[in-house]
Amino acid sequence: MSFNPDILDIISLTIGALLFLMVLVLIIVFALEKEYYAVRKSLILLLFPAFFLIMPFLNFPYQDYLLLGISGLISLAFIVLVMPFNNRKKISDYTFSNKVDERDIMFSRIRLEEGTENHNAYYTDRPRNKEIDDAIKANPSLLSEGSTYYNLFQFASANASFDTVEAYHDHLYKDPAPVKKDVDAKQLSGYIKAWSKKLGAVDCGITELKDYHTYSKLGRSHNYGSDCKLDHKYAIAFTVEMNKDMMAAAPAGSTVMESAFQYLNAGSIAMQLAYFLRSLGYESLAHIDGRYEVIAPIVAKDAGLGELGRMGLLMTPKLGSRVRIGVVTTNAPLNIDKATFAPDVIDFCRICKKCADCCPGKAISHSDRKNINGDIRWQIAQEECFRYWTICGTDCGRCMAVCPYSHPNNFLHNFVRKGLRNSYLFRRFALKMDDFLYVRKPAPGSPPQWVKKNS
Ligand code: SF4
Ligand code: SF4
Repeated sequence: MSFNPDILDIISLTIGALLFLMVLVLIIVFALEKEYYAVRKSLILLLFPAFFLIMPFLNFPYQDYLLLGISGLISLAFIVLVMPFNNRKKISDYTFSNKVDERDIMFSRIRLEEGTENHNAYYTDRPRNKEIDDAIKANPSLLSEGSTYYNLFQFASANASFDTVEAYHDHLYKDPAPVKKDVDAKQLSGYIKAWSKKLGAVDCGITELKDYHTYSKLGRSHNYGSDCKLDHKYAIAFTVEMNKDMMAAAPAGSTVMESAFQYLNAGSIAMQLAYFLRSLGYESLAHIDGRYEVIAPIVAKDAGLGELGRMGLLMTPKLGSRVRIGVVTTNAPLNIDKATFAPDVIDFCRICKKCADCCPGKAISHSDRKNINGDIRWQIAQEECFRYWTICGTDCGRCMAVCPYSHPNNFLHNFVRKGLRNSYLFRRFALKMDDFLYVRKPAPGSPPQWVKKNS
């Protein structure tokens, strides 16, 4: 039997081969990422190329019409999805104007000791918080033995990283060198960005320090209730990556190991930048774990590093929310970056809601952005989130682990991220594909083998 292909057969074979290659690339990338469920789901997608590759060898009535119809539909869908088609103007940008009192955040409240002056003053002012906080304090607490994910080695490693960051605390407030070096703002800004990346940052941006970046009142034990006196002109914000494999098991112990380790990395980079700027004669302060005087995600947004998504975290272009943020404030002359609003991130968060569906603490809202004292934004229920942390013993991170923006920084996911920026319809399609390939509510993954095997 001879096979004499006509033009339709050649078109069919070409489309089939292209689709096969595309699915093959998906399968290889997912396998390399150890996303084995997505590999299995991708196998189903092989039905598409199979259809086109088999058609030339079949012979049935209306076959050509069927082939033309399906090819036309696929081509049309492809063109519509890649065409720039946006609803950018319908999504408003957001700014921040309100200052936050650090005494209201859970890390401050949880440290208030019964019977102390601060404790009595705080709960006299905010009686509503007393009942909530007492219930949270009755839970086992973060990194404690009685918590759900207690693991001796994993929790001890996290504590080791946190303790090492704490060792920096005594070295934060240092005077600059007595003589200011004459430096060019553009050159210094460029150097800081390049050097921070050499030190391990993924991205780095600079903004003017605004009043709403700083806390209205500070709330850690060494400065409780005092005004924030930071009068620096600029803030340098940078991000460091949270390892995907360590985060996959969230909320299990590898998550808090990774969090603590990246707080340490961010702290180490921030300390070096601050020492560097002080050596040039300029006042500088590193804002590190346990010693922030600024609200890091808001500074990072203004420095052009990303948007604040539904889970209240910074959503960055390369890694989504799978980052930690470091900040250094300074009076050194710097050039600021223009933060450009990315409405596509807000639009995607509006339809996605995966973090809200997966949050074990039910702390993430399913509704649209709200007007919170004049600022249009999403805000998580911090008490609910922290309540869950004190039960599970880690800082959870489930929202970060499941977020479709948190996939690795590789050509496949960057192609999807480009599509998300480009098209309203692509965002809807990508969300359906994410649900198909990764499941809407995936079970927590395994920690890396070395963690599992040795702890
Ligand atoms: S999971 Fe979805 S809704 Fe939540 S932050 Fe990520 S993109 Fe936004
Ligand atoms: S860290 Fe966990 S509990 Fe907190 S908001 Fe994210 S998913 Fe919810």
